[in-house]
Amino acid sequence: MATQKNENLNRRSALVLSATALMGALYPLVGRTDDGDDDDRRSSSSRSGSSGQQIALATTGIRANVVVVGGGMAGAAAAKYLRLWGGAGLNVTLVEPDDAYTSNIMSNFVLTGARGVSTLRYNWDQLATAYGVVRKKARLQSISVANRQITLSDGSVLPYDRLVVAPGVDFDNAYGLTAQDYDTRTPHAWRAGLQTTLLQQQLAAAVNGDTYVMTIPAAPYRCPPGPYERACVVADYLKTRKGPNCRVLILDENPKIQAEAVNFGRAFGVIHAGVVNYQSGVTGIAIDPVSKVVTYTDKSGVSQTVQARVVNPIPPHRASGSGAGGWMSAAGLNNSADGRWAKVNPLSYESTAVAGVHVIGDAAQCGLPKAGHVGNQEAKICADAIVRLLLGQSPDGAPVANSACYSPITATTASWLTAVYQYDPATQSMKVAANGGLTAGAAPTEAASITSGNFKQMGTWFNTLMGDTYA
Ligand SMILES: Cc1cc2nc3c(=O)[nH]c(=O)nc-3n(C[C@H](O)[C@H](O)[C@H](O)COP(=O)(O)OP(=O)(O)OC[C@H]3O[C@@H](n4cnc5c(N)ncnc54)[C@H](O)[C@@H]3O)c2cc1C
Repeated sequence: MATQKNENLNRRSALVLSATALMGALYPLVGRTDDGDDDDRRSSSSRSGSSGQQIALATTGIRANVVVVGGGMAGAAAAKYLRLWGGAGLNVTLVEPDDAYTSNIMSNFVLTGARGVSTLRYNWDQLATAYGVVRKKARLQSISVANRQITLSDGSVLPYDRLVVAPGVDFDNAYGLTAQDYDTRTPHAWRAGLQTTLLQQQLAAAVNGDTYVMTIPAAPYRCPPGPYERACVVADYLKTRKGPNCRVLILDENPKIQAEAVNFGRAFGVIHAGVVNYQSGVTGIAIDPVSKVVTYTDKSGVSQTVQARVVNPIPPHRASGSGAGGWMSAAGLNNSADGRWAKVNPLSYESTAVAGVHVIGDAAQCGLPKAGHVGNQEAKICADAIVRLLLGQSPDGAPVANSACYSPITATTASWLTAVYQYDPATQSMKVAANGGLTAGAAPTEAASITSGNFKQMGTWFNTLMGDTYA
């Protein structure tokens, strides 16, 4: 029991440490020692990391099967930490259909040619070799809640003691556009991949005087500062590479800028003045995918028409599989008021509707923003809770998570946004904390200014986050 207590403490410190580490130096996960006292089991639980260090899995005595669905920011981290903290007897299978994961984070740089999309690709090899995660290349098709098993696209059936679902988001057909339009003519590129390359090519073909129109859906959406960041990066690219008469029109369905309002306000009004036209409270957006004519009603109720060269709609999104006939809906997981998200208990990320199923990342609703850094944090809280539950204990009653987002404003400068979140028992949700506790009205903190120093730190933060998730 003393060993178990220490293990819980170690996991708790790891949550806090890794949250801190993601803002700066790399937390040395490899080489973390096992405080168990069984030498034989310890050696059989040691695995070799890519750099040759021994990675010691915890000694817990757990014998169970956990299946993780989705190998993105949340799912990959959950699979890794379940093995690390649950030990060799906790079988973890990661179900993911793709050959590689393409990071959305930093993908705005692909649009300007500053990064190749291949530099954003990650795979699950290290999770398999260093942590013993079993990879299953398939897509989840259905969940049998009663039998605690899932059926995959290759026809196989996997039983689970606990299921972790991290499938990200699906996008609505909106503004008169279809999924085929997004893929071929008017890319949203809000899931990095072929659409990102298409949008990059469309921007590369633009000439001085062209207009780029982007839309922002009503919150909640993936990465609150992301659309404003994209507008800045594109504006900087168009004015420096294509000419001073290019324009970026932002049609925001929200009443105001959703994150880093001071720095983005300065970016739109000063740094990119005359190029960016930010319109909030827009309604009735309609886009012709062929002519690229965009119509909308501005916040004073006046109908407007714009001829765009490039149209980049970011459509409303929802938890993947939560649409009509989707696997998440069939399992009854999408129980938010609007049916778009999976409500979870933030102490364990267990669905509030379906026992034994945990939902993490962008698909979940628990008071945290939809962001990759947050998905990594949710994964750790969830993994810790599952290990405790499998040991017959209760989840930690006071989880803490942090989040950081760096937002490039030009090709060499950036802003950032950060927050620490704590569990609020009164509302049973995660709330922004300040001065070491829950404080009414506390809000995320944004950078005091837009600097090249922030831009340099952004690379360290990104590499650390991705290393913590995939290596
Ligand atoms: C342009 C842009 C910039 C961003 N910048 C930042 C940033 O600076 N900081 C930040 O923190 N966040 C940022 N984000 C947000 C971040 O990318 C997402 O919040 C994050 O990827 C969500 O992680 P996830 O694991 O929930 O989903 P995803 O990362 O989308 O992963 C979901 C995975 O599930 C798999 N999957 C889906 N359905 C199934 C199924 N049925 N069966 C099996 N597998 C399935 C998919 O193939 C995918 O690999 C940005 C997003 C964008 C678009």
